[in-house]
Amino acid sequence: MKTDRREFIKYGLITSSIFFGSVYGIKQLKSRTKRRGNYTGQWLDQSDRGHQLRDVIKQEPTANIKIPLVIVGGGITGLLTGYYLKKNGFTDFKILEMNSSAGGNSSYSQNSVSKFPWGAHYIPLPNKENVALIEFLRDLGLAKGDIRNIEFSDEFLCQDPQERLFIKGEWQESLLPHKGTNEDDQKQLHRFHELVNDYKTKKGSDGKYVFSVPVLDSSQDPNFLKLDQISFADFLKEHGLVSDVVVWYMNYCTLDDYGMGIESVSAWAGLHYFCSRRSLDSNDDHKILTWPEGNGWVLQKLTNYLKDHIETDRAVFNIRTETSGVVQSRIYNFETKELSECESKHLVYAGPQFLAPYLFKNKQNLPDVNVDDYFSWIVANITVKLNPDEFQKLHWDNVRFQSQSLGYVHARHQDLRGRSDGTTVLTLYWPLYDKDLTATEVRKKISKLKWQDWAPRVEAELESMHPGMASVIHSMDIKVYGHAMIGPRVGRIHKVLKQPWNARKKQGVYFAHTDNSGMSLFEEAHYWGHRVAQEILKHG
Ligand SMILES: Cc1cc2nc3c(=O)[nH]c(=O)nc-3n(C[C@H](O)[C@H](O)[C@H](O)COP(=O)(O)OP(=O)(O)OC[C@H]3O[C@@H](n4cnc5c(N)ncnc54)[C@H](O)[C@@H]3O)c2cc1C
Repeated sequence: MKTDRREFIKYGLITSSIFFGSVYGIKQLKSRTKRRGNYTGQWLDQSDRGHQLRDVIKQEPTANIKIPLVIVGGGITGLLTGYYLKKNGFTDFKILEMNSSAGGNSSYSQNSVSKFPWGAHYIPLPNKENVALIEFLRDLGLAKGDIRNIEFSDEFLCQDPQERLFIKGEWQESLLPHKGTNEDDQKQLHRFHELVNDYKTKKGSDGKYVFSVPVLDSSQDPNFLKLDQISFADFLKEHGLVSDVVVWYMNYCTLDDYGMGIESVSAWAGLHYFCSRRSLDSNDDHKILTWPEGNGWVLQKLTNYLKDHIETDRAVFNIRTETSGVVQSRIYNFETKELSECESKHLVYAGPQFLAPYLFKNKQNLPDVNVDDYFSWIVANITVKLNPDEFQKLHWDNVRFQSQSLGYVHARHQDLRGRSDGTTVLTLYWPLYDKDLTATEVRKKISKLKWQDWAPRVEAELESMHPGMASVIHSMDIKVYGHAMIGPRVGRIHKVLKQPWNARKKQGVYFAHTDNSGMSLFEEAHYWGHRVAQEILKHG
């Protein structure tokens, strides 16, 4: 999701008819086209190191070390935990990251043309109640002013033109289809628009907004929580919101934010997408913050601040709390191939929860997630040299109607356009969801596909929006995420409310990851980093 939340409100009324077919899904990946362009690229597979660990687990440690507080995982949540600890004067900790750089799903890269994201690429402006996040963004220099009257810097707010949709052979402004929609589509969208407006300000019996960010600030009134027990697809059907245009758009949105379609995502999560953000003031209109490297901009700030605490190429496993209360773990160093036994007072597990059963010795009371809660994604970074006219027409986000991919963002969008020579990096996002397959089945189907299989598909996707694009591609790097992010499928929010992160606190172990919230958003990473740091400072 990007600004389309607000576009929905803005362009709530549309006109005329479009066919929507069940086009998403990986079945069509079977048809492989030949690559036309003459370019090369890298293939990055996120799962390589995890697989290497399988052999290491059987080895015996050769060194003993003591780290008072170990943070396992240098994604945004682990880094924010460290940020808040250090900010409050607690410095006896290390953040151990298994990859060769920190960042997780907010990683980025750079080439001679631009920096570019490998995952997260924007942050919506926070709700005014989210004071800790507003303060954090202000501390980073993204905003100035009093907390009640905060002003975000134009430099970092996504500039216009923001979004366009390629539909019926043409580009139109905004992601909500205008072309080829009929009166019935228009009425249904209008009804959904009213429903969203109603839920946005509605509060439950506990006085909390029904939908809020962070997730745990949302109302727990059972009258609304029951929306977690049905799929978003069923909710839309129940409300007569079945038009092809509505269904395409809703499905696009849930795929974009959660990597899952409307049949899997709960109605609660589907509505949360649209209804959980309230403008800071009448001018902000739900803008977003973005940078060429996406959330890698925030990542760089955090890694600079924490440079003495981050150790990369280190995987932590065999985590257990002894009867003495000491937390033991094993740390494997991928560079030196050394395996150490580590003793700590506390351990923060900031890795994804589906890995917990493999990493914790005692399997009781671990969060109730499984590998099928995480679908795979492909992210491609394509360096191109466009003609000046085409370059000028680029929007920040460029989407094709009914495509399997989510389209691409343009890395040099925030640059001054007049200065460009037409070169830029396009980051194309492709969630590998199929409503008829489990995430494990999808992984199996794509497991043998490599760069040479994906490059022609990505190229064909670009060609379908920009005929002739293949010839201006300079390079195409592709990353596969086997288990990209947790999807808030039906029932997930109920599991979140059981507070699985509390189960091991008495044993010195804290869970901090966006998985704690059941959905993977920067704001949730911030919430958990901040909260877990406060808990450690209080009890530690
Ligand atoms: C393609 C994609 C696009 C996205 N776009 C956006 C966006 O635009 N905006 C947004 O807000 N969110 C977006 N997200 C969601 C993103 O996941 C979150 O914003 C955030 O980056 C999650 O951070 P995290 O620290 O909770 O988890 P992760 O990023 O999963 O970090 C966990 C870290 O733990 C490490 N780790 C795991 N196990 C071990 C171990 N045993 N030892 C050591 N290290 C370990 C991993 O290597 C990883 O670095 C996107 C996600 C993806 C995949």
